Amino acid sequence: MWIESPAGIPLQSSQVGEAPRLPQPAEVVAVEPGSIGEELGFQSGDRVLSINGIRPRDLIDWQILCGEEELTLEVEDAQGHHHVVELEKEADDGLGLVFREALFDGLKQCNNHCPFCFIDQQPPGHRRTLYLKDDDFRLSFLYGSYLTLTNLSAADWQRIEQQRLSPLYVSVHATDPELRSRLLVNPRGALLMEQLQWFAQRRLQLHAQVVVCPDLNDGEALERTLRDLAAFGHGDWPAVLSTAVVPVGLTRFRPPDDGLRPVEPVDAVAVIERVEPLQQEFQAAIGSRFAWLSDEWYLMAGRPLPPRASYEDLPQRENGVGSIRAFLEELEAATRQLPQRIDRPRRLSWVVGKVVAGALQPVVERFNRVEGLELQLHGLPSPYWGQDQVVTGLLTGADLLQGLHGRDLGEIVLLPRVMLREGEDIFLDDTRLETLRESLPVPIRLLGGADDLVAACIGSVGGDA
Ligand code: SF4
Repeated sequence: MWIESPAGIPLQSSQVGEAPRLPQPAEVVAVEPGSIGEELGFQSGDRVLSINGIRPRDLIDWQILCGEEELTLEVEDAQGHHHVVELEKEADDGLGLVFREALFDGLKQCNNHCPFCFIDQQPPGHRRTLYLKDDDFRLSFLYGSYLTLTNLSAADWQRIEQQRLSPLYVSVHATDPELRSRLLVNPRGALLMEQLQWFAQRRLQLHAQVVVCPDLNDGEALERTLRDLAAFGHGDWPAVLSTAVVPVGLTRFRPPDDGLRPVEPVDAVAVIERVEPLQQEFQAAIGSRFAWLSDEWYLMAGRPLPPRASYEDLPQRENGVGSIRAFLEELEAATRQLPQRIDRPRRLSWVVGKVVAGALQPVVERFNRVEGLELQLHGLPSPYWGQDQVVTGLLTGADLLQGLHGRDLGEIVLLPRVMLREGEDIFLDDTRLETLRESLPVPIRLLGGADDLVAACIGSVGGDA
């Protein structure tokens, strides 16, 4: 299921329709050990007012301005004292400063009203930042969050060109102008094809995604969209590098009259059968499959995931496209030399979203062939969102509390870190990891990737801090 990424950093917003606020001083929250910044005496709480006389708007400006060999920084320390710091360095040396925010002039919010917007499908009462609708080209460039291009001013377009902010990540949904406007509920949605031309003429690039809503932009509309995008996917310097096709995610908090319906297994089969022949066609015409289906389509359709090689260099892995196949491949490599037995018997629980449990079961069986090891897989649904077939990243603290209650969890629970908000120990429903730790009868260990799972099963046992 698709979620707009908040890029994992705290955000402040400009109000929709308002000009961005003036850039604020860039507040330092950490200084990398051994960095030039540390040598210069920078400390957390310092605020950078300007660099070579310019106040940066965001991290992109900062990085570009830092590319000079001679720098003059105006800094205000935590006590309010003003300092001017002059230095010389190699052009590619960074200063090692970590800032509180990536955007010093506020988040550019979206001006669309998509009925399938995940932000609008959250329950009320959470932190204000969870309701911010990021449609900011800077975050797209920095962190790969998707944007629609509908809120860009002439100055923004100029900046994208001048600073070569490429690749960007663009939510397309449909290339038919009328349909795209309808999906975004914004007449500016109709400009996409001209915008793609603009990218192509300037040799700027983007990755695309299509969120498929059954009966709205699937079927022939989806085929047209992928063909139109693939027309920008050829040559030495394609404007469109890849396209992810992902199913719409609907929660129980959406309004009843939104005109949407959830993706059913029969829809998943239809989408696979529509897109896979196009992949073959694109492969022959432009040398790449170009448009990839997210893993959920195959899981929902009950079909095997495509082989790893078919995802080429996994351009949309972060979007759930090929991510399970890549994880299985990493596990394959990490479990090649499993011991026959472990000295001290152990029993562990591994928690994942219900829709992926079937695909991971062979891994569990491989671990359980190790004598003394018992790994149990718990594929949980999400009563919180009202989804039975949920992906792991959407399981909330409430789902875990409810789903694990009364189960025999062994001596430790393994939780994929992807369930937590980026950079925070908080689940999507605002439950704190600490709360879950206090509520479960056994310790929790977080898993990043395949190596973590192997270490937890075969290496040292213990909860993490
Ligand atoms: S573009 Fe649509 S889905 Fe994305 S944040 Fe805006 S309204 Fe929500």
